Amino acid sequence: MATMEDFDFEIEKIISEVKARNARRVLLQFPEGLLPYATNVASLLEEKAEVEVVTSLDPCWGACDLADYEALTVKADILVHFGHAPWPSKTKVPTLFVECFSTREIAGQAVKVALRLGLKRLILASTIQHVRELPSIKKSLEDAGISVFLKSGSRSAPYPGQVLGCDFSNVHLPNASTVFFIGGGFFHAVGIALFTGKRVISLDPCTGEARDMTPHVKRILLERYAHISRAKAAKKFGVVIGLKSGQTHIDVAKRIKEELHASGKEAYLLAMREVSPERFINLKGIEALVVTACPRIAIEDGPRFPIPVLTLDEIAVVIGRKNWVELYPSLVERGEGENG
Ligand code: SF4
Repeated sequence: MATMEDFDFEIEKIISEVKARNARRVLLQFPEGLLPYATNVASLLEEKAEVEVVTSLDPCWGACDLADYEALTVKADILVHFGHAPWPSKTKVPTLFVECFSTREIAGQAVKVALRLGLKRLILASTIQHVRELPSIKKSLEDAGISVFLKSGSRSAPYPGQVLGCDFSNVHLPNASTVFFIGGGFFHAVGIALFTGKRVISLDPCTGEARDMTPHVKRILLERYAHISRAKAAKKFGVVIGLKSGQTHIDVAKRIKEELHASGKEAYLLAMREVSPERFINLKGIEALVVTACPRIAIEDGPRFPIPVLTLDEIAVVIGRKNWVELYPSLVERGEGENG
């Protein structure tokens, strides 16, 4: 079980920023996983920085969802966004990003798992919390005779090996077919496997548990296939425009609407912050949705909807612009038992 000491909340950095800007009120924004520490952080800041603290309790899953408008509304002088790397966007309220890097030492654990599983060549990946550890994990794995690849180059995932739920460019490498993911939960590990076609072994640094994601990804591929097949029969589509700051793609939604019309379907533009099934109870007649906001909404939340929910790439299959095989690099095609 993680504690506050497992993360670097950079309290001194926040205090300096508060003093430098002569701030009287700050708005704090945490992703779900760091919310348990929100009141501790708020009380530390109120005491040490002598600033009024308001904490945003709206859901937040990424730096694509900065509470800029909310900071403006509560008249905060600074928004402090925890748990994500800086996002390339302009804000009206000055925004301080605190990545909350993990303070755990993981290299020894990673080497044990890699040797036990017989991994010989791998690509290292992690979420923002553990990226600072990746260079030392790489060195320890290499000292144990394992070939390790660590890539950087993405604007939205700036640290070597970092992945987001919608950006896996740092693991797109031809050098190895196995990704060793350091981090908890399924979300990122499943995403890597689904969108790159590579085998993913995940190591949860909190529990020490190692998992092969292949069975989970196969189940999700079946779900995606079912959503696409059902959407092919639908006549009336909703095209969802996300209202979160980094998820608003109006031109894309308009293009999808036109393409659906050209394919003989009806389509309606819908705008919302949280894409949840409850919002569709009173909206009759829509038979399928295309989400132009976060691409993971369709995949993670799709099964909760009574109608098919598709990503942008999946709707391209429905209207015949792509085929299913191009969509998700198939895990099935990879040789079983490969360690590469
Ligand atoms: S768009 Fe979705 S996956 Fe990408 S950063 Fe935002 S919440 Fe995460």
